[in-house]
Amino acid sequence: MFRKILRVITGEATKREKIMLALKAFGSLFFTTGGLFLVFIFVSITMIVSMTNSSKDEGIGSAQNIPADVLKWESYFVREAQKYDIVDHVPILMAITTVETGGRLPDIMQSSESAGLPMNTIDNEPDSIAQGVKHYASALQLSEAAGTDKWTVVQAYNFGTSYIGYVSQRGKNHTIDLAEAYSRDVVAPSLGNVLGSTYRYVNAVSEANGRPYLYWNGGNFHYVDLVRQYLSQGEVGGNEGFILPLSPPNITSWFGMRILGGVEQFHRGIDFGHPQGTPIKAIADGVVIASEYHNSWGNYVRIEHANGYCSLYAHNVSNNVKVGDQVKQGDIIGHVGNTGNSFGAHLHLEISTSRDLTAASLLDPAEVLGISR
Ligand SMILES: [Zn+2]
Repeated sequence: MFRKILRVITGEATKREKIMLALKAFGSLFFTTGGLFLVFIFVSITMIVSMTNSSKDEGIGSAQNIPADVLKWESYFVREAQKYDIVDHVPILMAITTVETGGRLPDIMQSSESAGLPMNTIDNEPDSIAQGVKHYASALQLSEAAGTDKWTVVQAYNFGTSYIGYVSQRGKNHTIDLAEAYSRDVVAPSLGNVLGSTYRYVNAVSEANGRPYLYWNGGNFHYVDLVRQYLSQGEVGGNEGFILPLSPPNITSWFGMRILGGVEQFHRGIDFGHPQGTPIKAIADGVVIASEYHNSWGNYVRIEHANGYCSLYAHNVSNNVKVGDQVKQGDIIGHVGNTGNSFGAHLHLEISTSRDLTAASLLDPAEVLGISR
């Protein structure tokens, strides 16, 4: 309980944790104390929760352009993704949802058909997200078995999972050429369009691809690029260009849900276990946007990189840089320590797709840096 309160105060807690904590705090106080005191405590906690929320929610929309009607379901995406151990895919799932409905229909992920039901049979967002994430996770599993890339999975959300086998036999990486061929030669004929008839489909994405058309009954072969519009440049670009902050990494805790002291938590980054004083390197060039003490992170440094990614280095015994400093990849930005909410010397590293501190903007640093479990 205390750790959760700490995480709420320091802004590390998820929204779900904050709500649960507020309810729990109210409940236990209600039965153990009386009068104005409990009202005062409850109001205080509510204020803290709303303050941390409002400061953290700033600028979410502009960062990845995910509309508020999709963002408000973030905790559902995280919870469902957690069931399949794919929390790091939440940004892609929310980008897919934005393309599917923009949050404007109850079947928010348009997942009825993947459950074998007529379109829009699913009539509420939580069920749609549960089915959509389940379907995506099974496609991801097929893709991993077939050795195809992550964009194949995204395109398969539109075409159906047979696209994975198709790409697997043709180089294993999704391309616009493969997607168009599959649309024309497989999807469209299966629904009666055997002549490859097209219709005009004009928007920024189709024009950038130099193909302002679609095949009748052929799905949307521009789907990956539609989804990419809602992912930051870094997410689109892949893992190139980053180095390890500490080497060898010696990971002591991974990204995602974990149990700590009997309490389930969302771990926002990965932990590198290294002795106090070990120099920490910047993972890429960038500008220092924070270098200060924080209750939970201790001495931490945050760097914004050219592609919009941000990296955060926490629990340092000392920081070597100040806000506004330009750093080069490999520069020593601080030294490993045990400051803030930490039990033993380690570096806690977070990587996000933007300045947002929301869970939706976080990436699995192990995946970004190419560290295998
Ligand atoms: Zn950590």
